[in-house]
Amino acid sequence: MPWSIFTKNALETKNISDSHVMKHKQVLKVARNLSEPFKVTKGEKFRLKDMDPNDTLHLVSEDKPRAKEGLQVGVEALAELQDMLYAQDKWGVLLIFQAMDAAGKDGAIKHVMSGVNPQGCQVYSFKAPSSEDLDHDFLWRTMKCLPERGRIGIFNRSYYEETLVVRVHEEILQKQRLPSRLITKNIWRERFEDIRSFERYLSRNGILVLKFFLNVSKDEQKKRFMERITNPDKNWKFSAADAKERGHWDDYMKAYEDMIRHTATKEAPWYIVPANNKWFTRLAVAGAIINGLSSLDLAYPDVGPEKLKELAETQLALQKEE
Ligand code: ATP
Ligand code: MG
Repeated sequence: MPWSIFTKNALETKNISDSHVMKHKQVLKVARNLSEPFKVTKGEKFRLKDMDPNDTLHLVSEDKPRAKEGLQVGVEALAELQDMLYAQDKWGVLLIFQAMDAAGKDGAIKHVMSGVNPQGCQVYSFKAPSSEDLDHDFLWRTMKCLPERGRIGIFNRSYYEETLVVRVHEEILQKQRLPSRLITKNIWRERFEDIRSFERYLSRNGILVLKFFLNVSKDEQKKRFMERITNPDKNWKFSAADAKERGHWDDYMKAYEDMIRHTATKEAPWYIVPANNKWFTRLAVAGAIINGLSSLDLAYPDVGPEKLKELAETQLALQKEE
């Protein structure tokens, strides 16, 4: 079981010559093991009912404290990878989070990204579009929020809402000011096609796109809503609108499944992350991001002979001071 090597102690007490490299290899291996089972790169056969929101792989609830430690190791690895991403300044990373309410998007973003340098990270929460947004094509507002090279951009909800909430509530579509002859039964298929092309375009421009669907069950959502109602510290999180949206659960699940079937690609995979146990969700999300970043041939930029000469000269000058 790879799990035991994910803990700090195990990593530190191993008597290995190049412990840093070894530690990286181990973290990468665990990151892959924790995230690959949930990765979808080809959607045709995808069925949401095959994915268990309670899944925790081989981990049981007694592993929770170690999972927390493991997450810490993952967060540190992520910080190192992000530092290189920033220094290299070539690749960009876009992380998209979609989920039903109370699935834990905010918490996952908060915990997984807790170690990264805020300067290298940009988070955008997409709410209902403004009238200015609606005056444009549906990807317009996204364009302004795309991550720069060297940065990690996080979308808390995204243009995927255009195939989710807008699909479940067709009256929203009617308000989008589209020419009526463009609103046909093909509109969702067309949106999927446009999204796939857009993500391919991003990937061809050096933006790594990773998408997360936090898969919470209807029962667990109810528990979390109840907690928000009964715990005064969580009252602020509760919204009656969210509870109302729950009434459309089955329609949402259908929309999510169709969305994943049509937009899971090699260059922009979906991760269907089990979300009934927050500690596990965060681990799997961290694993997927580490896995993605480590595929990017990241490295600190080499300094050329000119720069080396400059460094030596400056060092000499500094030494001569006083
Ligand atoms: P939280 O409730 O945790 O603060 P949230 O993401 O649920 O986070 P809200 O302000 O509650 O934030 O909800 C945002 C709302 O905006 C959601 O109901 C979502 O469906 C809606 N929304 C986002 N994008 C679009 C879109 N393109 N068209 C219509 N509605 C959208
Ligand atoms: Mg909400």
